[in-house]
Amino acid sequence: MSGDNGSAGTGEATGFDEIDILWISEGMSCDGDTVSLTAADRPALEDVLLGLVPGLPKVNLHNKVLSPTLGGEEFLAPFRAAVRGELEPFVLVIEGSVPNQNIIEGDGYWTSFGNDPETGEPLTLNWWIDRLAPKAWAVMTAGTCAAYGGIHAMAGNPTGCMGLADYLGWDFRSRAGLPVVNVPGCPIQPENFMETLGWMLQHAAGTAPAPPLDHMLRPQWLFGRTVHEGCDRAAYYEQGDFAMDYNSPKCQVKIGCWGPVVNCDVPKRGWMAGVGGCPNVGGICIGCTMPGFPDAFMPFMDEPTGGALSATLIKPYGALVRRLRGITNTAVNREPKWHHNGPDLTSGYDPTWRSRGTHAPRKTRATTRTKRRELT
Ligand code: SF4
Ligand code: SF4
Repeated sequence: MSGDNGSAGTGEATGFDEIDILWISEGMSCDGDTVSLTAADRPALEDVLLGLVPGLPKVNLHNKVLSPTLGGEEFLAPFRAAVRGELEPFVLVIEGSVPNQNIIEGDGYWTSFGNDPETGEPLTLNWWIDRLAPKAWAVMTAGTCAAYGGIHAMAGNPTGCMGLADYLGWDFRSRAGLPVVNVPGCPIQPENFMETLGWMLQHAAGTAPAPPLDHMLRPQWLFGRTVHEGCDRAAYYEQGDFAMDYNSPKCQVKIGCWGPVVNCDVPKRGWMAGVGGCPNVGGICIGCTMPGFPDAFMPFMDEPTGGALSATLIKPYGALVRRLRGITNTAVNREPKWHHNGPDLTSGYDPTWRSRGTHAPRKTRATTRTKRRELT
């Protein structure tokens, strides 16, 4: 199975029984994706690392926030080994956007990860990506910043930063023959990342095909539907019933929700343990998973232009449907009239069985009742 990217199945063999994850969060970010990841429980990160999920290779995670090492050179050792070609296979995970080092080359650096042992100079994020990505079995992004640039890459930024696929090229292929695998979100929904990683690990073990990705290199099964399609408030939208402030359970499109045009499964999936999901719990969708985030969705909390149009169009239909449904709702909110404790059965029950096509004279309810009284 392959996704829209049409890339799966062209890389080196799978079937690994052990793999390392080299996670660099020195992109331009807040480390929020790593923090969010710790909330996953289907599967939980610790279950994967402890080998409790069947069918996965043994996984060694190197993430500075979650590392059991004391940091420094001990933490950097597997990264340096991978640069030398002494550690494989590994999955490279980048968190945070990638600055454009070219615009300040020779005049400092934007972000770094460890030092050059010979010169003592900082090693830039770009230095690590240039050396690790070509050797990586797979390359993943954690969060919108790494996937598409995110907040740091908005108009007017001084760093010229970008997403990882912008940096490596959208035609980049890892040793597994895969493009960059993007898991956007600001931050990532924890299980979205773990489920994608789990699929990648199954693929590494040789027990699953490559995950299907869409044209923006997102997992299709997670980002194939809109927020609106999974929103608890969608029925209000359909009935043209809109919230005018944030203290309402109704549809929030008029107070800034972009859900109808944003690809994200959070309202369906919830945030932690199935609970939450922005519009479900009162937060407008600001499109944080999208390549155009944040510029395309600003100013936040203003009614989207398209939302104003669609809300206007649906209003007369919604008002009529709401009225008709109200009438039917009242009608079906009564119990049937034969639910009573009176002396007669009035449900319409007919105790006489007749085969199809038999025209025996039909006994009336009154006759049946009379006979029953005679017998008693
Ligand atoms: S709150 Fe947003 S996502 Fe939910 S129904 Fe309204 S517009 Fe759609
Ligand atoms: S619902 Fe909207 S704001 Fe919330 S996580 Fe999804 S894209 Fe981001």
